[in-house]
Amino acid sequence: MGRRDVGPLGGLDPHPVTGDLFPSPVPAGSGWPGDPATSDTPVAGTPAAVRRLAASAGDVAELQARVSVCRACPRLVRWREDVAVSGRRASFADQPYWGRPGPSFGDPDADVLLVGLAPAANGTNRTGRMFTGDASGDVLYAALHRTGYAALPTSVAAGDGQALTGIRIVAAVRCAPPENRPTPRERATCAAWLERDLELSAPRLRAVLCLGAIGWDATLAAVRSLGWDVPRPKPRFGHAREVALTTADGHGVRLVGCYHVSPHNTYTGRLTPDMLDDVLRSLRR
Ligand code: SF4
Repeated sequence: MGRRDVGPLGGLDPHPVTGDLFPSPVPAGSGWPGDPATSDTPVAGTPAAVRRLAASAGDVAELQARVSVCRACPRLVRWREDVAVSGRRASFADQPYWGRPGPSFGDPDADVLLVGLAPAANGTNRTGRMFTGDASGDVLYAALHRTGYAALPTSVAAGDGQALTGIRIVAAVRCAPPENRPTPRERATCAAWLERDLELSAPRLRAVLCLGAIGWDATLAAVRSLGWDVPRPKPRFGHAREVALTTADGHGVRLVGCYHVSPHNTYTGRLTPDMLDDVLRSLRR
C-alpha cells in the first residue's frame, strides 16, 4: 500500500481521464465522471435510514445517487476512506480515490441484473464504477464485450467511454470491505439497496446473474423480502445453475449462477473465458 503525501496541489490529484483535480474521497457532485449524486443527495447514516431512503427512491438514478453517499456502516466507511487517503496501492498513489460506495453501473432499463459481492479497495473504491480498474473487472468486461453487452472490452476509469446495453451491474454490498469480508450486519444493512434495485427493475426483468455464492444468497434473500416466489428448499449456488423465480406480480425471472470472476477462479482455470461467455450468452434466451 502506498502512503500518500500531500503535495503542491494540496491533496488534490488529477483524474486519470479528465485531468480535473479531486480530493479523496471525492465529494458528491464535484464533477467526477458518472457521479450520480449532488451535494443535496440525502445521506443514510443508519440502517433505518438506508431502508427509508431505498424505499422512497423513485427510480434507478435516484437510488444510485443515494447509494453513492451512504454512510450507514461505520467500519466500512472508515476503511474505504482510509484506503482512499493513506492506503492506496503504490501504482495508483497519484490518482484520486472515489472512496464512496459503488453505485450500480449499466443500462437503467436493463432486463438483466448482474449481482457481484462487493467493491475492491483499489478497484471500484478508486474508480467509482463497478468492477472497474482491477483484475476481476478485466475478465468481466472483456466477456461482456464479446457477448454484446459492453461497448468496450475494457473498463479502466469513469469517463473512459464504457457503456452497457441490456445489463446493469449491482452488488450485495456497496462498500469495499477489509479482506473482502463484510460482516453479517453490514450485509443485512446494505440489503435494502439491493432489494430496491430488484424492485425497480422487476417490471422488465428476465434474468439475474449472480457471481458467486454470496451474491446468489443475497439475491434470494432480497427477492424473498419482496414477496417473490422462490423454490424450497433454498436452491444452492452452482456454476451455470438456473432456478425459476416468480415476481410479486407473477412473471418469471431466471436466477443464474456463475463462478465469481476473481483472480482466484480465473487464474486457476476454475472459470475460463468460454465458461463465462456461455453463461452470459444463455441470458439472452
Ligand atoms: S455497505 Fe451499503 S449500507 Fe453499508 S455504508 Fe456501504 S452502501 Fe451503506
